Amino acid sequence: MTESGDIALRLAAWWEANARDLPWRFGRATPWGVLVSEVMSQQTQMSRVVPYWTTWMGRWPDARSLASAPKADVITAWGRLGYPRRALRLQECARVVADDYADELPHDYDALVALPGIGDYTASAVMSFAFGERIAVIDTNIRRVLSRVFLGVESRGGAASPVERALANRLLPDDGFTDMADMVVRGSGAVEDAGDAGDAKGMNNKARSGRRPRARRRERPSVVWNQSVMELGAVVCTAKSPLCEACPIADDCAFLKAGRPGLGERRTRPRQRFQGTDRQVRGMVLEALRALPANAVLARNEVAGLWKDHVQLDACIASLDDDGLVEMLPDGSLRLPR
Ligand code: SF4
Repeated sequence: MTESGDIALRLAAWWEANARDLPWRFGRATPWGVLVSEVMSQQTQMSRVVPYWTTWMGRWPDARSLASAPKADVITAWGRLGYPRRALRLQECARVVADDYADELPHDYDALVALPGIGDYTASAVMSFAFGERIAVIDTNIRRVLSRVFLGVESRGGAASPVERALANRLLPDDGFTDMADMVVRGSGAVEDAGDAGDAKGMNNKARSGRRPRARRRERPSVVWNQSVMELGAVVCTAKSPLCEACPIADDCAFLKAGRPGLGERRTRPRQRFQGTDRQVRGMVLEALRALPANAVLARNEVAGLWKDHVQLDACIASLDDDGLVEMLPDGSLRLPR
């Protein structure tokens, strides 16, 4: 058994019993749907993403449909997910996938990471969660859990260190790890041949294998490891208040054994307050534009009434314009881009 073998087994059992039933999990979404979920989940809690993702995939189930959508609709559908530039980057990504890859997400890390708005984390997550490939997925939650359990220290935020990357790669279970594979198969729902087409749009009823899951598909050990470590970091081994008494791997945790030194310490600055920030003002402007009927504009006096500090307001509108999220008309009114 490997260094992490016993821990991987316990995490796999915990995952089977406790994984949140998010609609893009367990082989129920297309690779494109998985990518959309990952982009939406950056900076936003997964539980908040679910209604947005479900509506989005119902409306634009594949890259081609998103690619041809009006920008105003895309920005409006992004709603309150935050950091709305992500919506436009996702549409740029959709155009490349539709035009250069015949509407199929490439099954290749280098091609994925070359897509607009797709970084190492998202490309790795798609390779693992959508395509089942053995690759270390390194996000904040995974870094925190691995650092605590195996190094006994806090992961300090910022970019992943070489030590953290090396650790994640070293611990990734081999897909021939039969104890874990057996457990995963026992715990998973059977897989049946695809026949009826009852799934919602964007769901995986045309999976390349020609088969679709009845409940859960069989996942490889490396995929279960990535998902279970990430999930543990999201719901048990949280940054500020880890629930060590409910943790399935508490007996093996070096951080707990050491008395949880420096719990919650981070290298990055604390999150900026929201009230009064440019983020808040930009959000208010977009919210006012989203609330308008299709093709309507926000008149100059209505724009001016959104925020009393007009210097800050003008700067925020200019930055939204630079980001391609609004259009400024010659009479001073605003609208979402067409
Ligand atoms: S024992 Fe506590 S610190 Fe260690 S992995 Fe579990 S929740 Fe995290």
